[in-house]
Amino acid sequence: MRIDLHAHSNKSDGTDPPDVLVQRAAAAGLDVIALTDHDTYDGWPDALAAARPAGVTVVPGVEMSTTVEGAGVHVLGYLPDPTYRPLTDELARIRADRRSRLRAIVGRLTSLGVAITMDDVRSAAGSAVTLGRPHVADAMVARGLARDRGEVFTRWLAEGGPAFVDKYAPPAIDAIALIRAAGGVAVLAHPWGRSSRRVLGPVRIAELAAAGLAGLEIDHEDHEPAAREGLRALAAELDLLVTGSSDHHGSGKAGHHLGLNTTAPAQYARLLELAADAARRAGRPNPPRPAGPGSDPDLDTGYDPKAEPGADPA
Ligand code: AMP
Ligand code: FE
Ligand code: FE
Ligand code: ZN
Repeated sequence: MRIDLHAHSNKSDGTDPPDVLVQRAAAAGLDVIALTDHDTYDGWPDALAAARPAGVTVVPGVEMSTTVEGAGVHVLGYLPDPTYRPLTDELARIRADRRSRLRAIVGRLTSLGVAITMDDVRSAAGSAVTLGRPHVADAMVARGLARDRGEVFTRWLAEGGPAFVDKYAPPAIDAIALIRAAGGVAVLAHPWGRSSRRVLGPVRIAELAAAGLAGLEIDHEDHEPAAREGLRALAAELDLLVTGSSDHHGSGKAGHHLGLNTTAPAQYARLLELAADAARRAGRPNPPRPAGPGSDPDLDTGYDPKAEPGADPA
């Protein structure tokens, strides 16, 4: 079993539509792929519908933007009930602030003499419902102002860069509580990667574990061998799940091809058990389920984000 528990579609900052992502996961020899777009469930229906035909299991999830001591921390939520309003409202609030923040970034770039507009960014973003810095980068690449996303981040958009603007995100501890109340399983994404390492020491991770955090994404490209070793010891000590993933973004991020890192089958099985427990404890009557070769299509999540109260303005 090859299990990749973190990937993005073009509903956020990946480059493949959700159904294409699922087909590519199958072609890459994966048995299980989790769709974890930034701050949205919008790709779920297309990804879940593509699962059985492609012969791959799709786990619906989300990668939520959160903060710890002002630093950005990403929290993966697996199998949250998409009809749980407190969480969908919070995701909508994050997306709304991301849109105004992108206007501020474009303003900064303009004052730095970089000739792009919000219209350029909107057309580069295509069908994305969650806008991010990568879409600004794509707009600049389209205008011939940079070679790729990486160059734009290095020169302008990285944290502390000349056109960097921060965005709203809830404290990680609150996000974890929301994911649990939605019957989902919360896992810290790349905890010792770029921005979050400074604020996610062992004491803080133990605090989050006591507040309901279920796992650590350890096998991730942003973690060098020593970081993985340290995190594995911590996961053992705190009895946390250990996951691995590609954090695939299509052609938007080099060196993150599907299946690059994977999750052990026993860890995946435990994640599904924890989700079932969480849904029971939270009293969520119709928790979402993974879709795929072994699933009953009648039970697959028929989630329609357009029917969701508080859906984003077009
Ligand atoms: P944002 O969501 O707007 O804060 O932007 C963060 C996203 O940018 C991350 O989820 C990454 O996917 C992407 N990113 C960060 N650094 C780079 C880079 N050097 N090259 C390409 N994408 C990047
Ligand atoms: Fe991303
Ligand atoms: Fe992330
Ligand atoms: Zn990610």
